[in-house]
Amino acid sequence: RGTMTVGELAKSLHKDASEVIKKLLFLGVMATINQELDLDAIQLLASDYGVEVELKIPVEEDKFENFEEKDDDEDLQERPPVVTIMGHVDHGKTTLLDAIRKTNVTEGEAGGITQHIGAYQVETNGKKITFLDTPGHEAFTSMRARGAQVTDITIIVVAADDGVMPQTIEAIAHAKAAKVPIIVAVNKIDKPDANPDHIKQELTAYELVPEEWGGDTIFCNISAKQRIGLENLLDMILLVSEVQEFKANPNKRARGTVIEAELDKGKGPVARVLIQHGTLKVGDSFVAGVHFGRVRAMVNDKGKKLKEAGPSTPVEITGMTEVPQAGDPFLVFEDERKARAIAEKRAITLRQSEMGANSRVTLDDLYKQI
Ligand code: GDP
Ligand code: MG
Repeated sequence: RGTMTVGELAKSLHKDASEVIKKLLFLGVMATINQELDLDAIQLLASDYGVEVELKIPVEEDKFENFEEKDDDEDLQERPPVVTIMGHVDHGKTTLLDAIRKTNVTEGEAGGITQHIGAYQVETNGKKITFLDTPGHEAFTSMRARGAQVTDITIIVVAADDGVMPQTIEAIAHAKAAKVPIIVAVNKIDKPDANPDHIKQELTAYELVPEEWGGDTIFCNISAKQRIGLENLLDMILLVSEVQEFKANPNKRARGTVIEAELDKGKGPVARVLIQHGTLKVGDSFVAGVHFGRVRAMVNDKGKKLKEAGPSTPVEITGMTEVPQAGDPFLVFEDERKARAIAEKRAITLRQSEMGANSRVTLDDLYKQI
């Protein structure tokens, strides 16, 4: 991508254009006076003249926040909570996710055939809950490292026959850092050596104190394997949601986060996206990370084709030429041209930030310094 022409560069270096062209030729770059130079060439040339150049793409231009349509309070509507399950290995996360998924397959959903799209939704008491079933720790560490916050509530699973373990502590730390409310699920209460009170006792050291002991942390005794206490756990999730009042505006262009993505042999690049604001529609043009696309097809976690999907809905979409990354922001634009331009700009910014942290200045700064 061009940034400034040979003529402009020569001028800002107070050199003759012909001299600059010669120099460029010497450096292996063929250029005419009106040709736009890429950043590498500019840097090469400047360093040859002994001038230090810093390159920066104006960060504001690139931030997705700037494209967000602002909401008025009355635009906001209740949305399902997005829940992550975390905890130490073998304490029962996968068993719990599977058990919850099975408890709530509503009739008529193609015999309950679910497909893995990185997240699923269940319905309880007429309300939906979205569960991320990407491994909780990964969802947190890789996505949070990339600035994505997708979780509203974290369930920390602790096995009642074991105790607080390193990954339990890590999970608590992650949830607290992200300021996400925690519900403790004390699992495996069916086991003869289960001691739920011991778990409660241990967790007080991490400021997770049950209500009956004067704290405000919700503890649920469950058996994921025997499916004991699951309804209560779902009720508690809804209770926390009511208190927190999770809301979003469904009446605008969609915005969300890629939770998983891969290259499918048949379908090409697929992205599993959690819609967080607005409504995604088939045909929408979007940017996912540094790639752009147009929603060709969209399915939910039950394999059902959707025409549109609102806040807190996980969907699998096709219609990209490249595979984005988990944690990538996802944003719909008014048309394909805009989406393409933004994606290209983001790709350049990424490339430049990879070139080094101190190579981030604007073109204005470039003029100023020389
Ligand atoms: P993860 O590593 O946290 O995902 O744990 P898993 O869900 O894979 O469970 C680890 C083991 O504990 C498996 O053998 C499960 O069958 C078993 N398990 C999970 N939940 C329960 C439970 O409520 N009761 C009993 N007895 N075993 C359980
Ligand atoms: Mg597991």
